[in-house]
Amino acid sequence: MDSLRCNVADLLHRPAARRLVVLSIDPEELGGVGQTRLVSDEPVSVKIAFEHVSDSIVVNGQAAAVYELTCSRCLEPIRHPVAAPVRELFEHDPIEGQTYKLEGDEIDLGGPIRDNILLQLPSAALCKDDCVGLCLVCGINRNTDTCSCDLTVMDPRWDALKDIKID
Ligand SMILES: [Zn+2]
Ligand SMILES: [Zn+2]
Repeated sequence: MDSLRCNVADLLHRPAARRLVVLSIDPEELGGVGQTRLVSDEPVSVKIAFEHVSDSIVVNGQAAAVYELTCSRCLEPIRHPVAAPVRELFEHDPIEGQTYKLEGDEIDLGGPIRDNILLQLPSAALCKDDCVGLCLVCGINRNTDTCSCDLTVMDPRWDALKDIKID
């Protein structure tokens, strides 16, 4: 996470000082959360302004990344680009769950970037809106293959499973 630590001493010593920071981050540095993870061959791009406001640092900008998720119907991997606004406050005495800690002259952008990107992710992703999912009998991907399974004789109770989210 070290490259996401930014020294803001220059800003803290001047009232109302402002600086624009543009970063290209290796996704490995942000890590994954649960079954979602950042696509490793796409850098996370961050464009953010730091501003010194009454002993705190306000960061305001945007982070863009590509996540890999699994289609909740057919289980194929899908790439999901996200652009997340990042608007946070770093202060010496942070408010739990609301602001981040200003550690001496340094702020760590890792937490805010990861948290804001995660907020943009869908809870159940589909590879396409009309994804028809897997055959419940033989398990083939019905988007790309056809089978001759007779789904009409299936127990109707299976219907409830069709839209179930598979984690
Ligand atoms: Zn799908
Ligand atoms: Zn089938």
